[in-house]
Amino acid sequence: MTDSHYEALGALLGRGGVLRGADIGPRYFTDWRGEGPVRPELVLRPATTKEMSQILAYCHRESLSVAVQGGMTGLVRGAVPQPGEVVIATDRMTAVAAPDVAGRTIVAEAGAPLQAVQEAAEAAGLFFPLDLGARGSCTIGGNIATNAGGNRVIRYGMTRDLVLGLEAVQADGTVIDAMGSYIKNNTGYDLKQMFIGAEGTLGIVTRAVLRLFPRPQSQAVAYCGLDSFDAVVGFLAHMQTTIGASLSAFEVLWSATYDAICEKVPQVRAALPRGHRFYVLTEMMGSDGARDPERFEETLGMALEQGLLADAVVSKSDAEVRALWELRDGMAHAMGAERPIVSFDISLAVSDMADLEQVLSDRLRAHMADPMILIGGHLGDGNLHLAVRANGVAPEDQPLQAIEREVYALVGARRGSVSAEHGIGLSKRAYLPQSRSPQEIAMMRSLRGALDPKGILNRGRIFG
Ligand SMILES: Cc1cc2nc3c(=O)[nH]c(=O)nc-3n(C[C@H](O)[C@H](O)[C@H](O)COP(=O)(O)OP(=O)(O)OC[C@H]3O[C@@H](n4cnc5c(N)ncnc54)[C@H](O)[C@@H]3O)c2cc1C
Repeated sequence: MTDSHYEALGALLGRGGVLRGADIGPRYFTDWRGEGPVRPELVLRPATTKEMSQILAYCHRESLSVAVQGGMTGLVRGAVPQPGEVVIATDRMTAVAAPDVAGRTIVAEAGAPLQAVQEAAEAAGLFFPLDLGARGSCTIGGNIATNAGGNRVIRYGMTRDLVLGLEAVQADGTVIDAMGSYIKNNTGYDLKQMFIGAEGTLGIVTRAVLRLFPRPQSQAVAYCGLDSFDAVVGFLAHMQTTIGASLSAFEVLWSATYDAICEKVPQVRAALPRGHRFYVLTEMMGSDGARDPERFEETLGMALEQGLLADAVVSKSDAEVRALWELRDGMAHAMGAERPIVSFDISLAVSDMADLEQVLSDRLRAHMADPMILIGGHLGDGNLHLAVRANGVAPEDQPLQAIEREVYALVGARRGSVSAEHGIGLSKRAYLPQSRSPQEIAMMRSLRGALDPKGILNRGRIFG
């Protein structure tokens, strides 16, 4: 990278706006999984949309490839720089405006951490429902670019359902202002949708108008032990019919995953004894602070009486709600505790999940004696996370590719999705054709060609 690029971009961004050499810390080339490790030659840190537009216009003119970065918590290597790429980071665009209480909206810059938006909403007596384990580090821009799902999709939908408007900068520096703050707008194409879930390949999101909700007046969480998959499915149906729209989470851990969290994640405490086949965290958020806790307990009591639940523990305080959620959020840490490991984020029909562990285990035994399979996730949304490695096999001898092939073959045979919420990035692009038709992929490519003809934005992500 020539000195002339450093000088020209420095003139646009000023002091602190361009980093090079030893000033580039690992944060800009290492993602949450510790995968990198290509130190980029330049990191650009625009502080405004105008600066973002100017530097993209420059990169476009000079044909400089760009890796777009938010909080670097993505799990598919989308933001990790590849050789020769300039990094554009949103870490100086972190403002969160005071919510519009009457309109129930909030405007945040792309680099604002998710948790900062949640807290600003709460301070105004409102609620921003997007929530995931990486809430303290991931950014609104990254959430939008990956169309993040998380823990409350069952009630509030994906990020896509929470974005009313956005502003994005195209590869050539053109600013698209689609900052509407209303739900209904049938005036031609809904252009903001192009940038949601596009993983930074169609433009860089700079700001968004997000939808807020009334703050729930009650929150109760239960951890339940169940002894069959039929009971899990029955319990989900029971919760959906009895507490209906107040059901805000239904998260399942297979027993091996629960055991791994209890063993490997130091800050969590077991909520229930080990030994059940499945563990469910379920949450109710309601509008009647006085009656809801009782209603929740009654609902669980009915499930116990019907034999759906073998055991259950219910939160009695905010601290207990947090502790039970930490036990669920520990899944990502337990899965990450083993290296190397192959991890998956799949969608399947719930009816196709019952024998998943057994069928996968049988298939993997063709490649290894003792597969370790951790499964859990957002079963209420048909989305599971899986992590697989061979037990007792040295890291360098792990049959990683065979594991990947077997899992995706099974997902393909069951017409599932190879990525439910993490995206494709670099890690999963070989498997995109398993979930999307050739015609769909061709249309994606022509959109990409129209909006970024030189292919400078996140080159190689999503498509091979
Ligand atoms: C512990 C843990 C738990 C997680 N749980 C969930 C979960 O439940 N559900 C879920 O969906 N995900 C989950 N994730 C994955 C991850 O947190 C989300 O995908 C998150 O939305 C990524 O945000 P980020 O700011 O870290 O983005 P990054 O990792 O920095 O980037 C992710 C992608 O978005 C692009 N990008 C970033 N910012 C912008 C922008 N402003 N404009 C355009 N493109 C941009 C990047 O180029 C990259 O392709 C989890 C991750 C961790 C570590």
